Amino acid sequence: MDDFRGRRAIVTGAGSGIGLELVRGLLARGAEVVGIDLATDRIPDGAMRLSADISQVDQVDEAVRAALAGGPVDTLFNNAGIGSTKNLIDCEPEEWDRVFSVNVRGTYLMSRAVIPQMLEAGSGVIVNTASVAGSIGLPDRAAYCASKGAVIALTKQIAVQWAKAGIRCNCICPGTVDSPWVGRLLSEASDPVAHREQLIARQPLGRLGTPSEVADAALYLASDAASFITGSELIIDGGITAA
Ligand code: NAD
Repeated sequence: MDDFRGRRAIVTGAGSGIGLELVRGLLARGAEVVGIDLATDRIPDGAMRLSADISQVDQVDEAVRAALAGGPVDTLFNNAGIGSTKNLIDCEPEEWDRVFSVNVRGTYLMSRAVIPQMLEAGSGVIVNTASVAGSIGLPDRAAYCASKGAVIALTKQIAVQWAKAGIRCNCICPGTVDSPWVGRLLSEASDPVAHREQLIARQPLGRLGTPSEVADAALYLASDAASFITGSELIIDGGITAA
């Protein structure tokens, strides 16, 4: 469990769900970790904690400056994201823009701030958290599906752009994961227990994924075991897109 010893990683969305498990997993594997989130109180102990809204260029640049002041960063997990549960007609332009500003612009701004230092070092690894929603159409998820499709496309572009410079870039595509995110969705349902059963019923594996199962897949892509993998989408969805 020390395969990340000597490495230094940034994780966005580090205070909840998948990002929190990424921080824990990295610390357990010997990495130094910088956690970024809107608030720092839920980022696990042992990580350097920075607060920033990843959709805001000044905040991103300042956070990355602070992270780099502590040493070079070889690994970036662009994990923070927000949802939207509307079809295209019901989604107001402000909500559409907010989803894109966090999910797509946030991934762009963080990568823009970190990649120059990876280029200087001649190596680096980026893992973006996309979603199965980026490659299949889900009802009432217009802005979310479109934004995660953009994350998948940007992943491939970064991979091709800087493969020869020693940078690998991949994304994970989770299905339904039992994080606080899904807890919030369920709490908005008229019958949360029945809705949870519906979500489980459509899973070939018969259960929802856990944040740590998703984090493990992202850690694999960031590890040296994935040294020949770049530009790929790793689906972690309990079989839902195969059904
Ligand atoms: P979560 O809501 O539990 O955690 C997301 C974290 O991101 C929160 O701590 C939040 O404060 C942070 N965040 C949100 N906006 C931010 C911003 N502008 N700047 C900085 N931090 C911000 O959700 P999660 O389930 O852990 O989701 C993490 C990622 O996984 C997201 O990109 C999401 O789209 C993706 N995903 C989740 C699921 C799922 O079922 N939970 C499925 C597929 C993909």
